[in-house]
Amino acid sequence: LFLTFEGIDGSGKSTQARLLADALRAAGHEVVLTREPGGSAGAEEIRRLVLEGHTDRWSAETELLLFNAARRDHLEKTILPAIARGSVVICDRFADSSRIYQGLTRGDLRAKVDALHDLMIGIEPDLTFLIDIAAAEGLARATARPGKELRFEGMGLGLQEKARAGFLALADRFPARFRVVDGARSPDAVAVDVLALATAALA
Ligand code: C5P
Repeated sequence: LFLTFEGIDGSGKSTQARLLADALRAAGHEVVLTREPGGSAGAEEIRRLVLEGHTDRWSAETELLLFNAARRDHLEKTILPAIARGSVVICDRFADSSRIYQGLTRGDLRAKVDALHDLMIGIEPDLTFLIDIAAAEGLARATARPGKELRFEGMGLGLQEKARAGFLALADRFPARFRVVDGARSPDAVAVDVLALATAALA
């Protein structure tokens, strides 16, 4: 089973991914918790290239290729082997993040994002939790986080709002796998909903 978490910066998706992994392990499941960009040795190297560099180090197109290279390595080395072993794979961000950040907010590359996905990645998660939160609240949380900078200095409120709307539109585009969860609550309250939805999917 392949589960992903998506949402804007500060939505709490990484916390929820970890809490779900803990809960499923406690219930006896073999779980691999991973993240994008990264999740394999090669993809973590690419993560540094895309996230630690200056914002305009790469063009939007080059950035899209780098994210796809990272995703392909992550898929080959981590995700597919874990699924083959029968593990539950929980991934913090996946291709939907490219649909938003490379396809929508960094530049309008939606057609290229979809074409590259079909060509080089091809798989979709069984279930995607969209942890939904107001752009202003996400931005406030992400900004308050110690040692964690927003990737783009220009990623202000306007772009966060665009990203949030984009994620909600994706949930409409892929209704069978998306579950929208209200993230504006305590982490424990959100986790209860997520676990119930995941448990239903595992049954
Ligand atoms: O999820 P995490 O906070 O680790 O993501 C790091 C940054 O990379 C975020 O600011 C996110 O907006 C950005 N990102 C991106 N394109 C992706 C995945 C993440 O621009 N495909």
